[in-house]
Amino acid sequence: MYSNIEEMNALIKNCIKCNLSLKRKNAVCGNGPKNPKIMIIGEAPGKTEDENGIPFSGRSGVLLRKVMEESGIDSKDVYITNSVRCRPHNNQKPKKANLIACSAYLKFEVEFLKPNIIVPLGNSSLGALSYISGIRFDPITKAIGQKISWNQMIIIPQFHPAAILRDMKRLKVFEGVFRKIANKN
Ligand code: SF4
Repeated sequence: MYSNIEEMNALIKNCIKCNLSLKRKNAVCGNGPKNPKIMIIGEAPGKTEDENGIPFSGRSGVLLRKVMEESGIDSKDVYITNSVRCRPHNNQKPKKANLIACSAYLKFEVEFLKPNIIVPLGNSSLGALSYISGIRFDPITKAIGQKISWNQMIIIPQFHPAAILRDMKRLKVFEGVFRKIANKN
């Protein structure tokens, strides 16, 4: 077992708890401060992240950081992690078995870091958060921007930035949710 984030990350780097370990180059650990105000939960590493081991370092991450910064959120207050730590083959969505296998790491991060606000990005992240919280969330198109209290934290679901890159008509909503988050932290 592990008693801090560093010990957990050392295990993640060699984790073989699910089939996503078979084709990964790097397991991608969470990244950020030890006392974050905000925890962002993405879906899974993409090609860039699999190569360099840094979460949200590809195109989605560029958009995510730009919109957070424009909303007034200080990146020093933000911890960024993923629902699964290894890249699904061909960028497919992680399967339920992968989300469940990886959820113990997410649970430890949430309990250890105790952010004020948790921001799950998209349906996979809502699913992962369901497994650790027991909360049944609406699909992201309905849940987006809702404020859900859980264990003295607030969960505010948000679109995944990859969904914005696929459909820029959603950008205004995406920006609005981050402004709302900035006002709460
Ligand atoms: S996705 Fe998570 S559970 Fe599966 S091998 Fe990677 S670190 Fe382990």
